Amino acid sequence: MDSREQWIEEELETLRQAQRFRRAAVPPPGLLNFSSNDYLDLAHHPDVIAAAERTLRAAGAGATASRLVSGTLPLHEELEARLARLKGYPAALLFGSGYLANLGILGALVGRGDTVFADRLAHASLMDAAVLSRAALCRFRHNDPQHLDELLQKASGAGRKLVVTESVFSMDGDLAPLPELAAVAQQHGALLLVDEAHATGVCGPGGSGLIREHKLEAAVNLSMGTLSKALGGYGGFVACSAAMRALLVNRARAFIYTTAPPPAAVGAALGALDVLEKNPGWGAELLRRAAAFRGRLRAAGLDVMQSASQIIPVQVGANARALALAEELRAAGLLAIAIRPPTVPEGTARLRLSVTRAHSEGDLVRAAEIIRRVCSL
Ligand SMILES: *Cc1c(COP(=O)(O)O)cnc(C)c1O
Repeated sequence: MDSREQWIEEELETLRQAQRFRRAAVPPPGLLNFSSNDYLDLAHHPDVIAAAERTLRAAGAGATASRLVSGTLPLHEELEARLARLKGYPAALLFGSGYLANLGILGALVGRGDTVFADRLAHASLMDAAVLSRAALCRFRHNDPQHLDELLQKASGAGRKLVVTESVFSMDGDLAPLPELAAVAQQHGALLLVDEAHATGVCGPGGSGLIREHKLEAAVNLSMGTLSKALGGYGGFVACSAAMRALLVNRARAFIYTTAPPPAAVGAALGALDVLEKNPGWGAELLRRAAAFRGRLRAAGLDVMQSASQIIPVQVGANARALALAEELRAAGLLAIAIRPPTVPEGTARLRLSVTRAHSEGDLVRAAEIIRRVCSL
């Protein structure tokens, strides 16, 4: 072993000891997948693939440059217009991924002397973005507008204030109290960003998200989303005002210093939006099925936490137990991932189950029974 890499083996051993070691492995084939974010089963939809193929052939494999150089294609503008319409905002801006969108947005809006107020369970991309921005980071208790209010009151400094939260939480599947959070942010003159990564395509009218469901477009400055979950493809975006978009184009480094999204990815997203428009009830139907599935798990005495979406955690506590259960489920034909710290708080390891359109009603009944049996051992 290269002596300069000795410390790596020690770090890996520490992870193994804590049951935190992870690997990026190809999942075994043939399992019923409960860990996909492809909620509407669009990644393999023929119309989505056809749209990606068309744009690939017409515009090439790559965008060949960043957006501000010569990489902006008519396709990018078309997709931004479509996303703005879906979200009910005047404008939208594409990013390479949802992670990059959050990095870009926070870095453009806040810096030294400013403060980011983040829900304690907000996604790692928002936390990383806050750290990278050099703004102070203040975390409010999960889904607690009153605590946010107190923190904003205390932060009397002159700097800009930005509140960030998810609408559907990625590891808990619960919903943020958006009207209350928006009211608090507005009252304190704080900007508000809502990450709709898991709500886009699923929640709200026609899959437009929870901001629209609550008619909060005017109160939420930044409606962030991803093309990589319910839309089945790859890429990130934010819907916002025209002025906000112009600022991000000029200041968001994760937008400026990277190659524009490739035509096939943009085409796939346009295809996915077409499918969504033709099937505006798919999200609601998925949520109904997920509610029935959650009901079965809860009736079996399992702790599904505050889930109210297609994401359903089964909290088990210890890392080792979550790992053992995931292994047993795998042996029984189900793919469900054990989610452990640091992705979730210490002592709250869980199986994270996501219901998708790929599951039949029969699959869900069968899976609930398997999970009940495995988890009650
Ligand atoms: C997945 C996710 C992201 C990142 O989106 P990608 O397009 O996968 O980079 C951001 N925020 C939340 C809440 C997410 O779950």
